[in-house]
Amino acid sequence: MAALWLTFVKRRASESRSFLLLHGLRLSVACIGRIALLARRFVVAVALGCLLATAAAANTGRGAGDSPVATDARLEAQGDTVRLTLTLSRPVTATATVMAGPDRVIVDLPSINFQIEPKQGRKSAGFVSGFRYGLFMADRARIILDLGQPAVVASVSVKPQRGGFGELTVELKRTSREEFAALAREEAAKTQLPSIPVERKAEGDSRRIVVIDPGHGGIDPGTQVAAIAEKAVVLAFGLKLKEQLEAQGRYRVIMTRSDDTFISLGDRVRIARGVEASLFISIHADSLAQAQDVRGATIYTGSERASDAEAARLAAKENQADAVAGLDSSEDVHDVAGILMDLARRETRSFSTIFARNLVERLGGSVKMHKVPLRSAGFRVLTAPDVPSVLIELGYMSSPKDAELLNSEGWRNQAASAVQQAIDQYFERLQAPGKAAQSKP
Ligand SMILES: [Zn+2]
Repeated sequence: MAALWLTFVKRRASESRSFLLLHGLRLSVACIGRIALLARRFVVAVALGCLLATAAAANTGRGAGDSPVATDARLEAQGDTVRLTLTLSRPVTATATVMAGPDRVIVDLPSINFQIEPKQGRKSAGFVSGFRYGLFMADRARIILDLGQPAVVASVSVKPQRGGFGELTVELKRTSREEFAALAREEAAKTQLPSIPVERKAEGDSRRIVVIDPGHGGIDPGTQVAAIAEKAVVLAFGLKLKEQLEAQGRYRVIMTRSDDTFISLGDRVRIARGVEASLFISIHADSLAQAQDVRGATIYTGSERASDAEAARLAAKENQADAVAGLDSSEDVHDVAGILMDLARRETRSFSTIFARNLVERLGGSVKMHKVPLRSAGFRVLTAPDVPSVLIELGYMSSPKDAELLNSEGWRNQAASAVQQAIDQYFERLQAPGKAAQSKP
């Protein structure tokens, strides 16, 4: 395991683009250009604008130029067997495991450039209700097959084809609930995702550290409305906010992700704690299929008890991110306990609330807010005991008006600059004489 971890760290460091992910230095214009180019080449929805193109091409991810390309995926059922066949530009190595709650089969692959119609994954066959695919980490991709009934992996094979192509076949066989549960327990004990190496606070740098956390990424698209994925909307906003904050020179900004990579909820919290951030801002966008007229931004803080049913629904949905990517969602992000930590946590909560109020005030003066703009619930990503943390739902992708704004450069600039003013105001108030909280953060 240690050797594996070392290889992982080395690979990570050697890959300059994933280095950028941690250090959050810049999203190169070249990258946006490349995504746009890919979109033009492979996607028909170019007319819908850059963001749409980013969302549609998001699955191509990094390294698309040199990774094997998957051009076709087919699901076929025959008796008690379901077979997934993937056509690849060259053979790769693959492994497959089962995971319970929800029941699924996870196929791990090296980085793959998926050029598969997403609608192919929405078709069911036998006991498989559909599949998803995407980048899981910098150099790994995943296919997740959702199971309607318990099944085991009967075989995984990759056969070279004529012309240098490869064909991956994963064969699943129906099994009993008991056998499935036993196998899933066994696999869960074996497969622990290595946490990403966390950057530490730099010596001698007195700037405040703000961590921006664009939600979802990689294999987890977040909310999806038509061709637009939440992961692309929130990344575009996060990068804009970073640009505006850095232009001031007062802050050091760290992104939990700067590209289309999956980061677990626990790792997002660990990144913020590792750099001893003064603020952690998680960026999301919501959707309500049954209420297209619901609009506006909402600011959330973490709390054990949700402020209302709507906040509880949203936290449950956002907390699913790890499970969507095939991670054991029981992984605990509360890794600290004790009376001192409880005190710190309580203090951190009050700072989070102060900042959340600033956000409502500033953002509300600039863009449309939800009619109840300040709420709280048990978001796993807001559990750092020592970093004031908030989650911004920028708006509702299910509202045609909000969706249009979320995709517009003008709205993004306006909203990002309101968030930046709220950040300035928060730190200015903390520093003001007579504030008990001077020493913090
Ligand atoms: Zn989200």
